[in-house]
Amino acid sequence: MRRILIAGNWKMNGSIKSIQYLLIDIMSGMDAVKQADVAVCAPFVYLNLVANMLQDSGIAWGAQNLSEQSAGAFTGEVSADMLKDFSCKYVIIGHSERRSLYGETDALVAEKFATARAAGLTPILCIGELLAEREAGETEAVVGRQLDAVTQRNGVAALADAVIAYEPVWAIGTGKTASPAQAQEVHAFIRQRIAAQDAGVAGKVQILYGGSMKPDNAKELLAMPDVDGGLIGGASLKAVDFLGICTAAPA
Ligand code: PEP
Repeated sequence: MRRILIAGNWKMNGSIKSIQYLLIDIMSGMDAVKQADVAVCAPFVYLNLVANMLQDSGIAWGAQNLSEQSAGAFTGEVSADMLKDFSCKYVIIGHSERRSLYGETDALVAEKFATARAAGLTPILCIGELLAEREAGETEAVVGRQLDAVTQRNGVAALADAVIAYEPVWAIGTGKTASPAQAQEVHAFIRQRIAAQDAGVAGKVQILYGGSMKPDNAKELLAMPDVDGGLIGGASLKAVDFLGICTAAPA
């Protein structure tokens, strides 16, 4: 039985003060969260603060990116071991903003996935199609290609302890959510593609949905059989909304 995971992606938002308030409010609502595991992915510079506040809270934390390199002359980069130093459990890999704004290719994403796993971090691998790709009927080809790049580099077994986030790019930060049926269709496709290589891994891997998930649409999305949670952007910055999604997980 796969557990529901609700992971917040704060992106480049927050300050020491706002994060303190946000985490205090989220922690105070955690008693009501029975059916989901919860995590927040913070900007690098706040990981120390987050780690200090969340230890013993039952909420996990992680980063939003990492370097594919292990150490050395890579100015401005952050390594997997550095994230481990701050007890990160998760790291988001290949978010569409990194792919589109920072030129991350499928090959680089596959390298980052390998680096994360080698360090014992749990990658949250983001895949998803652009609106034009969906409209051209290319959703499965795009998502399949992004997934295959990772399995060809890492082996399908590497997905067993990883998390995949299906994030249709047209739904990220736009207020346009995939319908539960649209999400389920792609999630089932992803699981079948993995099952074609290893049914055991396919049954185990958590596949989250991301793209304008909110308290008022979370229940229907999370009720889909292949939707194992959510990667939450905007709504993870408000405790009441984030908790509203966490408590929408089905029993
Ligand atoms: C995201 O950035 O991963 C995301 C899902 O954002 P939002 O929830 O704001 O659409």
